Amino acid sequence: RVVLGIETSCDETGAAVVDENRKIHGEALFSQKEIHLRTGGIIPSVARQLHKEKIDHVVTKAVLSSGISLHDISAIATTVKPGLALCLEVGLSYSLNLVKHFKKPLIPIHHMEAHALTIRLLHQLEFPFLVLLISGGHCILSVVNGVTDFLLLGQSLDESPGEALDKVARRLSLSKQAECSSMSGGESIEYLAQFGDKKFTKQNPPMAQYQDCNFSFSGLRSHYERLIEMQENKEGIQKGEMLSCAADIASSFQHSVAHHLAKRTQRAILFCKKEGLLPPLKTSLAVPGLHTRYGLKVVSGGVGSNQYIRQVLQNLTDDMNMSLLCPPPQLCTDNGVMIAWNGVERLCAGAGVLKNAHNIRYEPRALFGTDISERVQ
Ligand code: ATP
Ligand code: MG
Ligand code: FE
Repeated sequence: RVVLGIETSCDETGAAVVDENRKIHGEALFSQKEIHLRTGGIIPSVARQLHKEKIDHVVTKAVLSSGISLHDISAIATTVKPGLALCLEVGLSYSLNLVKHFKKPLIPIHHMEAHALTIRLLHQLEFPFLVLLISGGHCILSVVNGVTDFLLLGQSLDESPGEALDKVARRLSLSKQAECSSMSGGESIEYLAQFGDKKFTKQNPPMAQYQDCNFSFSGLRSHYERLIEMQENKEGIQKGEMLSCAADIASSFQHSVAHHLAKRTQRAILFCKKEGLLPPLKTSLAVPGLHTRYGLKVVSGGVGSNQYIRQVLQNLTDDMNMSLLCPPPQLCTDNGVMIAWNGVERLCAGAGVLKNAHNIRYEPRALFGTDISERVQ
């Protein structure tokens, strides 16, 4: 079984051909990141136009490089939720045309489920595992019990870590720095942070008084925005010019984000242990050494490619006798491979494969999993 996956939910046009033996036969990706950096954020109509211009090229490239004819693929998997309506629409209508023309089943994909299951493309991992999804639009802690079975333990009550990093990066005008000109906000914060002092300023971790494992990033983010303004006044420079302490601010902000993620994840792990949600790993032939551990945590989503954040989460899992796995950076950010793989998983599980898909709709706002966050304490 081999699936063509198509992704257009946000600012990446991605396609890939993946089979059930975890082989990536072909892939292609066009990122709009640099174009949106120039306008200081994603303008949905611009993103739609770029998807429209690129999708045929991206899909054709992925299919041609796979050496597999569209006649021979088993199904087409496409992101239909959640995401920007104008963007989802491009991928879905393109896929519906292919489905009709080649008489293939369509597998509608939930973008965040795809982020969560990417790790199973890389390792023969059994369910259940705990996943932390940190991306441009989400912050989610979830127990993954099966291909279509997700327990939602906690999520951000306001903005995502990616959004917060992007806003602070924009406020520091990092995209105007030559080294950062083609980096996303999060990447430029990570880059600059290596030259700074993470102890430059200290901010109390958000939501410390709450026993659940939800997140909040807007307070942290505005604290740093105010700090930037204060420093600008102090140094007598204009908004948009580089602060002498920009690296220190990037470093301590990145540290605060990582620390908050770790604190809330720790709560989730304690809850899972208490409720027996994550039994010890039985077999892990593909991941030597993991079988001695209590359970497994996976980090994915664009912010999951941040090495500092990974290290902080690694320290946490070491302390709690757990193992941590992360996909490589290029599979943490959006791509077609994860959509194709989720299609393979669904095809093998016989879940949500549509023979007749002409009236399927996209859903810009979609819920994730079974929400048990109110039970978490
Ligand atoms: P979602 O998956 O929630 O729909 P999205 O698809 O836009 O949102 P991704 O492509 O998964 O998000 O991730 C993009 C986000 O990841 C951006 O906010 C970007 O700044 C952030 N990001 C990318 N690389 C890094 C990095 N090295 N460090 C921190 N953040 C990063
Ligand atoms: Mg993206
Ligand atoms: Fe994403």
